[in-house]
Amino acid sequence: MSEAILPALTVRDLHVQYSLRKGLQTRILRAVDGVSFTLQPGECLGLVGESGCGKSSLAQAIMGIVEPASGSIEIAGLPADKTAIGGLDRARAIQMVFQDPYSSLNPRMTIRKTLAGPLHLHRLCPPSEVEDRIRTLLALVGLEPDAADRYPHAFSGGQRQRLCIARALAVEPRILVCDEPVSALDVSIRAQIINLLLRLKDELGLALLMISHDLGVVEHMSDRIAVMYLGRFVEEGRWDQVLSRPAHPYTRALLASVPGATKATGPGRRMTGEAPSALRPPPGCAFHPRCAEAFEPCRTGSGPPVTMLEEGHCARCHLLTERVPA
Ligand code: SF4
Repeated sequence: MSEAILPALTVRDLHVQYSLRKGLQTRILRAVDGVSFTLQPGECLGLVGESGCGKSSLAQAIMGIVEPASGSIEIAGLPADKTAIGGLDRARAIQMVFQDPYSSLNPRMTIRKTLAGPLHLHRLCPPSEVEDRIRTLLALVGLEPDAADRYPHAFSGGQRQRLCIARALAVEPRILVCDEPVSALDVSIRAQIINLLLRLKDELGLALLMISHDLGVVEHMSDRIAVMYLGRFVEEGRWDQVLSRPAHPYTRALLASVPGATKATGPGRRMTGEAPSALRPPPGCAFHPRCAEAFEPCRTGSGPPVTMLEEGHCARCHLLTERVPA
């Protein structure tokens, strides 16, 4: 009997909150409000939503940078905490690629020193093999061996992001969290970095969590897409389900704003105003002040339940509970 493959990452009912003090008052900002998902080895989940929706807080909780208020995170079936995968083990299992490759590299270190750092820290190879590993890492991201002798300022933005990816891969992670990895780059080189990440995902069996405010970026690389609004997933499904049959008005509005992307037909494409603050989320469906399709039930209660539309495709919207039998 073949062994079941464990998800690389399992997130269950995760809540991330920040306490903000103003005078004598303390207010709670619910940045992530009950998020659950799994990520398989070799799979890319695109996480999309406007800035402030909680994407980066979710990424930081997964990385262990912020402590969740509740919920659980598992890496390959083991709890991501001190009892199982904590500290250096967690840092080795999950690596992150940040938005800004200019500030992500130490300008005073050669690339050799930058890439050797994690190899030494995690004792991944004897000192005699470090040089070989550095050459392999550079080749993996499409750079020549002589890049090792240079400093970050000698590279273009795209090359620096390749170096950041090489540094992340040095510890052979299972999971790569990419937080807006191409948004600071020229449009002309974005596709190169996206293609590089896709190739590495396939070659190394990496689980990729690709975070972006732009559906146009994730649509080209994701196996599944999750749409996040004010701390919650409002729609999730395979890329073809979400892009060709978007069910949530917010997803349709995001799609309508992507030049050249598959345009969803039907109502709900209009979105008005700014996203409300997570400090004071609207009652009912948090999207209702901006939703062209809002009706009475949307404005009260604790928000719409999750409706399963087809296998693997679900969304939170009262319109769907009316259309799809329970
Ligand atoms: Fe719009 Fe109501 Fe659906 Fe929220 S629940 S997305 S307000 S129709």
